[in-house]
Amino acid sequence: MTVASVCSQSGCPRRALRNGRCDDHARERDRRKQEAHWRSTGSTLAQRMETWRRFDGMCQGCGEPTRRPDTRDDGEQLRPIREHLAAVADGGTDDDENIALLCHLCADVKTADARRRGLSG
Ligand SMILES: [Zn+2]
Ligand SMILES: [Zn+2]
Repeated sequence: MTVASVCSQSGCPRRALRNGRCDDHARERDRRKQEAHWRSTGSTLAQRMETWRRFDGMCQGCGEPTRRPDTRDDGEQLRPIREHLAAVADGGTDDDENIALLCHLCADVKTADARRRGLSG
């Protein structure tokens, strides 16, 4: 015999089907997560410039200088990536203390790492 649990959304009396929520609220949560992800990758030029200036354009991974975000990519210089230290999908915020400047090489390594960790659990 199983105890029927109700949706964890306060005030919702429906049966919990997925992730402790009813179907509607589980879907709503998925959508919010997706939007947070889009926000995290869609940083504006102003945000990228601010981050770049805060770190003097230096990659926080390898210490190499990166290209200014408002200059053209000439394919030679390291591209600056505005990186969330804790992924937004994992509850990371858009606050200064959660933002680092990485070059595209270091950002790739970090992303691959996170993906590996995700796979291995
Ligand atoms: Zn619900
Ligand atoms: Zn780097």
